[in-house]
Amino acid sequence: MDPKPAAFSTQCIHAGEIDDALGSPHLPLYDTTTFKFETTADLLDVIEGRKDGYLYTRYGMNPSIRSVETKLAALDGAESAMVFSSGMAALSSLFLAHGRRGIVCIGDAYGGTLELLGSQLPELGIQTHQLLLSEQGRLEELLDRGVGLVFFETPTNPRLELIDISAVADIAHSYGALVAVDNTFATTVNQLPLALGADIAMQSATKYLGGHSDLTAGVLCASKELLEPVQRWRKNLGQMLAPDTAHRLARSLGTLAIRVERQNANAMQIARFLQQHKDVRQVYYPGLSEFPGHALARQQMSGFGGMVSFDLRGSREQAIRFTERLRVISLAPSLGGIESLVTMPVTTSHHDMAVEERNSRGISDTMIRMSIGIEDVTDLIEDLAQALATLSV
Ligand SMILES: *Cc1c(COP(=O)(O)O)cnc(C)c1O
Repeated sequence: MDPKPAAFSTQCIHAGEIDDALGSPHLPLYDTTTFKFETTADLLDVIEGRKDGYLYTRYGMNPSIRSVETKLAALDGAESAMVFSSGMAALSSLFLAHGRRGIVCIGDAYGGTLELLGSQLPELGIQTHQLLLSEQGRLEELLDRGVGLVFFETPTNPRLELIDISAVADIAHSYGALVAVDNTFATTVNQLPLALGADIAMQSATKYLGGHSDLTAGVLCASKELLEPVQRWRKNLGQMLAPDTAHRLARSLGTLAIRVERQNANAMQIARFLQQHKDVRQVYYPGLSEFPGHALARQQMSGFGGMVSFDLRGSREQAIRFTERLRVISLAPSLGGIESLVTMPVTTSHHDMAVEERNSRGISDTMIRMSIGIEDVTDLIEDLAQALATLSV
């Protein structure tokens, strides 16, 4: 065997494949809830961990689940990976398993994450803290008080702000705390949190990993040791991904590298187009050299991603009209698919947030968040141009 690890796009296709006895080039779907044994001794060998084997799908002991987990671990450069029925399932099990000494979240985060951290986990007695990016200086004070888990997204939703993974990891580790990064926006293609010092990397596979807006899933990558307590929560909260969804996720991962590379390239051109447009007040994209997070993005990302946000000049009503005039690009609250989508954070992810808090997070009434697909970039730019033209009439 060649000890050299395969290149990323090759691993997207070949990692995690389990040899199929009939010669299928990819693992067929095991839409099976349980597996048969010849003897009780064989069954006990698997249950007691002396032998690798398949047993019961909710435990994750199913070839379709194991195969996609092996592929995801290889892509993230992790010892181990676990899939879940959604991104929120992955985060809730992670927080329950590793958040009991308290959790600090730095910067903006996904709405569901903020709700879990802001109200639901505290109801269970888990202490949580939220630091705005400008308050990062308070991190050490919280760590000094014994907080055990530092969590953040980078780039963040929707302003694409950057947080320095290795700097935060150095500080957290000096206090014995763990670092978990939600890598959904960057994806494994553009950023490898574990290589930068994070302990756990999470992604909502509903977004870029699934990539076609047709499946819901989540993933955690980490060492076996750190995932072991998470596995017990996943098992007993019943958060397992269905085997047929795991199978479709594995198929999507085959094209992950080429999809995201195209999305990166389209996003760069669209960010430049928006930046020079008279009706656009500000563009948020880590790939723009003027963007405040650009230098850090160059340091910790290998591509700048497919998410671009921008503030329009004008009123909230004009911004709403802009989103409704788009023809190729759709108005929908998700991201990461092959099709381009826009949302307005004030009407979706940040809808329930108090106006003052929204303002403190820099979310304007005319902010548009765009998830860039793999369409021809000329068509996307033309679509944006014609919808922008209606703003001034
Ligand atoms: C969508 C999303 C989640 C939640 O994922 P689901 O699969 O919808 O549960 C978490 N974090 C980020 C950054 C997301 O975009």
